[in-house]
Amino acid sequence: MPSTCWPGSIVPEARATYPDSYYAASLAEGGGYGPLAGNRRVDVAVIGGGFTGVASALELVERGYTVALIEAQRIGWGASGRNGGQVTGSLSGEAGLKKHLRDVPGGDPAAFVWDLRWRGQRIIEQRVARYGIACDLKHGHLQAAWKPGHVAALKADLDAARERGMGDQVRWVERDALRELLDTPLYHGALRNDANLHLHPLNLVRGQARAAASQGAAIFEATRVLDIEHGATPRVVTDGGVITADNVVLAGGAYHRLGRPELTGKLFPAALGIVATAPLGELAGQINPEDLAVYDTRFVLDYYRLTADRRLLFGGGANYSGRESSDIAAYLRPRLEATFPALAGVDIDYQWQGMAGIVPNRMPMLGRLADNVYYAQGYSGHGIATSHIVARVLAEAIHGQATTFDAFAGLEHGRVPFGERFGNTLLALGMTWYRLLETIR
Ligand SMILES: Cc1cc2nc3c(=O)[nH]c(=O)nc-3n(C[C@H](O)[C@H](O)[C@H](O)COP(=O)(O)OP(=O)(O)OC[C@H]3O[C@@H](n4cnc5c(N)ncnc54)[C@H](O)[C@@H]3O)c2cc1C
Repeated sequence: MPSTCWPGSIVPEARATYPDSYYAASLAEGGGYGPLAGNRRVDVAVIGGGFTGVASALELVERGYTVALIEAQRIGWGASGRNGGQVTGSLSGEAGLKKHLRDVPGGDPAAFVWDLRWRGQRIIEQRVARYGIACDLKHGHLQAAWKPGHVAALKADLDAARERGMGDQVRWVERDALRELLDTPLYHGALRNDANLHLHPLNLVRGQARAAASQGAAIFEATRVLDIEHGATPRVVTDGGVITADNVVLAGGAYHRLGRPELTGKLFPAALGIVATAPLGELAGQINPEDLAVYDTRFVLDYYRLTADRRLLFGGGANYSGRESSDIAAYLRPRLEATFPALAGVDIDYQWQGMAGIVPNRMPMLGRLADNVYYAQGYSGHGIATSHIVARVLAEAIHGQATTFDAFAGLEHGRVPFGERFGNTLLALGMTWYRLLETIR
């Protein structure tokens, strides 16, 4: 091992590698972190180096805790470093949250959820500015009506945003005017929101890890957590040593199998795929002149945006079987070309997929496996903003202010019977049902 490669330090080459994606090919900075070798004692051990884990680690070191962050592969290797990069004010399961959240700060669940909706953008913007994170952050998003029948719901959202004082950031774009913003025949109008962001997620998560490390967080890549042994000071057992802590945060997303049997049958991995075209040059300005991120109003939607080097990054559909699909480009090319006929035959340079954690009722899952072992997962495909909100809520709870955490922890997340074996099949059936409903909406 070279002398610079002590556990927790930045090293030129980390052992594990990223999947072959546009994001991995455009890292803002190189380096990685060595694996754990030996035992450690910290205030908080965080398992999982995605947004939930990394943002939690950063929140905690900022509050003065000693933190060890343990990642089986590399920082951002999971969904956080593979996603569409769209940071939108949409919490998954929002209707359920308004209905079922109890004892929220301020006492009004609707107002609380509305504020929460926008907290993630603020956290990310402040963090990017504070730590100088190069992640191609831009403003501007369109939620585009797939059918005429979808317009009313978008306009209701617009009215709600105006009523709550966001009038200068949102507006309705009529179908004809939309052709000026997107060179596509597909939509029936769109809700434009300039508070929403889009960015390079892998660089964002790695930038936050660097910020946490610079404040003393010990980060271990290529270190798999095998077990959490509960007790007054829980022990996080890894393949490289044991970390003993006062508190543990489990943030393994859709990629972990820890916390059994409590978490069994409650969260299901769905494989989501993305492609990135070759750089489009001037065509990029033709199809999306204001560089907006876009998704449509379907339950299982398409989403896309331009990258900093003017590729179209396009994602859509989902494989709810819990397994990855074989040829993402073959599946997405017809959807991409139907969206932008000008891109017919375009070269696709990258295709990849990642696992998002789907919760049947769509509400984020926060809770405790023991008094001092917290978990957070299950953002159902809307996780960039949500994970940053959740990380703050987790850190506040560990710091002694648990009201918001407890409100989330009180939500009921039913266990799917035989979920471990058949949960994904049931999920796929449920999604088919929703798609059917959509044909008559
Ligand atoms: C293709 C795709 C597109 C998406 N697009 C968007 C989008 O545009 N906007 C949006 O808001 N959301 C999007 N999402 C969802 C979003 O990416 C996720 O909700 C979010 O990144 C989840 O973050 P996380 O930290 O909880 O999990 P992850 O990022 O998956 O991180 C979990 C980490 O835990 C590690 N881990 C697991 N088990 C262990 C173990 N035993 N020991 C150590 N480490 C372990 C994994 O290696 C992984 O790195 C998308 C998801 C996918 C897959």
